[in-house]
Amino acid sequence: MKRKFNFSAGPSTLPVQVLEEIQREIVNYRGSGMSLIEASHRGADYEAVHNECIENVRTLLEVPENYQILLMGGGATLQFGMIPLNLLQFAAKERAADYVISGVWAKKAHQDAQQLGATHIAYDGASTNYTTLPETLSLSQDPVYVHITSNETIGGLRWVDWPDTGEAPLICDMSSDIMSRPIPVEKFGLIYAGAQKNLGPAGVTLVIVRDDILQSSPAQLPAYLRYSVHAENNSLYNTPPVFSIYAMNLVLRWVKKQGGAKKMQELAEQKAELIYSAVNESEGFYTSPVDQKYRSLMNVVFQIADKTLDSTFIEEAAKHGMVGLKGHRSVGGLRASLYNAMPVSGAEALADFMRSFATRRR
Ligand SMILES: *Cc1c(COP(=O)(O)O)cnc(C)c1O
Repeated sequence: MKRKFNFSAGPSTLPVQVLEEIQREIVNYRGSGMSLIEASHRGADYEAVHNECIENVRTLLEVPENYQILLMGGGATLQFGMIPLNLLQFAAKERAADYVISGVWAKKAHQDAQQLGATHIAYDGASTNYTTLPETLSLSQDPVYVHITSNETIGGLRWVDWPDTGEAPLICDMSSDIMSRPIPVEKFGLIYAGAQKNLGPAGVTLVIVRDDILQSSPAQLPAYLRYSVHAENNSLYNTPPVFSIYAMNLVLRWVKKQGGAKKMQELAEQKAELIYSAVNESEGFYTSPVDQKYRSLMNVVFQIADKTLDSTFIEEAAKHGMVGLKGHRSVGGLRASLYNAMPVSGAEALADFMRSFATRRR
C-alpha cells in the first residue's frame, strides 16, 4: 500500500511507525492476551502508559515542577468554556478576561468566555481579515488572564515571540502547534491543546497548568469541570480516553526519537520554507495573504490568483497522492498543513507539484 501525503488540518497525518506499532499491539497487548483498550484503566498496563505519556510531555516540553500536566476529554473546545468557568465567572465583577482575537479559534474561545463574565478585546484582527498579529496588546486594567491562540489553524498565522502580560496569567490555545517548537512554559499560566493535530488521534486534550491557577478552581463547579479534580486524581478521576492516550504516548516516543521539540522546529522551518518558496517564486501565480512576519509553519495558507483553478489544483494533486489541500471554507483557496508527522519528502513533493502546475497553467 502506498500511503498518501495527507495535508489535512485535523485530524491529520500520524507517523506511520506509530500506526504500525498500534497495529502490532492492538489485539494482544504485549502478551497480555487482550487489547489495552479492553483493559482496566486502573490496571498496571494502562497505568504505565498513562504515566509515561505525562512524563514524556514533561520531558519534551521541559515543563517545570510547579505545573501539572492533565489529560482530559472534550477537545480544545471544552477548554474554551472550562477556562472562564474556573477563572472568570467568580472573579471580581470589575475585572475582565482579555482576549486576543487573531482568527476563528480565538473568536470561539472568546464567545464562550462572554457567557460567563466580563471580557475585554486586547486586539481584534478583523480589519485585516485576520492576516497579522499585534506588536503590542491593549490590555484592560488588571486582567484576570490574557488568552491567545499560538497558531491560527484556519488563517495560517502564528505567534513568533510571546507577549508580555505582566502579572496576568497568559493562557494559550496551542492545539495546532504544540510540540512543534520548544516553549518557555514558565511564561504561561495555562496551555491547552486538542491532540488531533500534532499529538495523536482525537479524543484527548493536553492541559499544562500552573499550581496557583489550579488552586483557584471553584468548589461550586461539577467535578469534571474543575481543573483541581483532574490534578488531584492524576487525570484518572473518571475513565480517560485510553486509546487516544496510548497513541499519543507512541507519538511522543516518536518525537523523542526524532530529537525532540527543537528538532521538530528545524523540520517545521524546512518544510514550511519549501512551500512558501514555491509561493514566492511563482511570480504571482500563487499568493499568501498572511503577513510574512507571522506566517504559520504548521498551516500554510495560499491562493491561486486565478481562483477558478483551485479545484483543478486539488484534483491533480490528489492524482499525485496529495490530499487535504482545500482551504477552510471561511478563507477559501488552499492550505497545506505540515504537522510534525508530515515528512520532508511530503513538503518536497507538494512544492514540486506546485511549480509544475504553475508552469503548465499560467
Ligand atoms: C482544532 C482546533 C481547535 C478545536 O479543537 P477540538 O479538539 O476539535 O475542540 C481549537 N483551537 C485550535 C487552534 C484548533 O486548531
